[in-house]
Amino acid sequence: MVAKFQPLLPRFLAKFKINTETECWEWTAGRYRDGYGAFGVGGRAGGNKRAHRVSYELHCGPIPNGMLVCHQCDNRICVNPEHLFLGTSADNLADMTIKGRRARVGHPGVSNPSSKLTAEDAMAIRDAVDVPIGTLMKRYDIGRSVVFGIRAGRLWTHLPRPEDASDFLNRSSTEVGN
Ligand SMILES: [Zn+2]
Repeated sequence: MVAKFQPLLPRFLAKFKINTETECWEWTAGRYRDGYGAFGVGGRAGGNKRAHRVSYELHCGPIPNGMLVCHQCDNRICVNPEHLFLGTSADNLADMTIKGRRARVGHPGVSNPSSKLTAEDAMAIRDAVDVPIGTLMKRYDIGRSVVFGIRAGRLWTHLPRPEDASDFLNRSSTEVGN
């Protein structure tokens, strides 16, 4: 199983370009009619799989039965695992509905008017490494990829380390209210 699975990764990694503005990994190989990327699995079984689902499996692990792999970034050709999250179809609809209120991937946090989190929240999330992701998602009403993004330093990239946090917060309260 491992021997069959491993050669997929280098082939997969050759089939997208990184959009430096959005950090989306944009699929450059074939596409399905509905706009999602298509990855030829190869081997005797052949056939195509949805590229974003393959990316999720390669980087994050198996997709539980019946679950969708959804895009935080709304970019169907994106295969960046940090922009993907597991959801039910109900989650996907809810996500699309509230998207406007969400922190968007690739924006630096509080300077984004649609951000729901304060810098203080984001720092608390970043530093709560022993708190389960599901708990943080409920506590702050945010998506999994936002938690991942903060932890990976991709969102709220300008956050200071804890030692100079109070200084930062004092400064930012005057800078943010523009
Ligand atoms: Zn993306």
